[in-house]
Amino acid sequence: METLDYNSFAEKCVDELKVLQDKFQEDYDVNWYENWFYNQATGLLTFSTGDQELNFKYFDVGSFSEKSNTWKWSWDNDQTLDKVKDATKLVREFGQRHNFPKLTNGYFVSDQFEAWEFTAIAAKLVSGIGVYRPVDEEQLQIFLVVTEFVDNETARSIKNRYVQCNAHEYRRIAFVCKHLNHQTKVGFEEAFETYENMELEEDDDLQAWCDECEAVRQKEGEWKDSSMAFAGIKIVCEQCYFEMKELNLGHR
Ligand SMILES: [Zn+2]
Ligand SMILES: [Zn+2]
Repeated sequence: METLDYNSFAEKCVDELKVLQDKFQEDYDVNWYENWFYNQATGLLTFSTGDQELNFKYFDVGSFSEKSNTWKWSWDNDQTLDKVKDATKLVREFGQRHNFPKLTNGYFVSDQFEAWEFTAIAAKLVSGIGVYRPVDEEQLQIFLVVTEFVDNETARSIKNRYVQCNAHEYRRIAFVCKHLNHQTKVGFEEAFETYENMELEEDDDLQAWCDECEAVRQKEGEWKDSSMAFAGIKIVCEQCYFEMKELNLGHR
């Protein structure tokens, strides 16, 4: 294996990122938009002005704290969902192969310049099309790599599969009959066998109903208007769904 010098590699990545970022800005003019919003659950970065929207898929490289002058890779951050940090595991693996400690240590003293280097390296290794750096109230700079443009219709259908839950924040959507709840056992029948964080096909939804609903459904032979009316399907978040499953079936 050829030996790679970290500094020259990082420098090359930064140069490439400059070109990439100019192209990104030229193609999408993201600075024109007034608002930005990113969401770990959907993995979407959204820019908007009024009802004009621009969406991308992104992953989270890591964060630089202006307070403590430290860098934290997203793969080392328990607060970050796998969906937006899996990509940085490739960066860590690359670091392991080439013995680059800065890519394999999760959290260390650093500076902003290095943070951009790490972002440039991540963008190169995971084929980014651009980068974005929002700054939150805590003076934490979040470094994001944008990987793919998402048209508005697709973005809407992705966002429609998520719901804001009072107990669990923003989660994937699930459907249960109105009898299922967090306190009492009423049985738990499902459309198909499910487990937490499972991949779902475009047309599949998490759906469950109680024993009573199942009895009505069986009597009618299938879901009909009357059995649907009896079930009174409601929307819950995925976490609530699995809590109800646990309460009723008690195996986790
Ligand atoms: Zn029911
Ligand atoms: Zn919930």
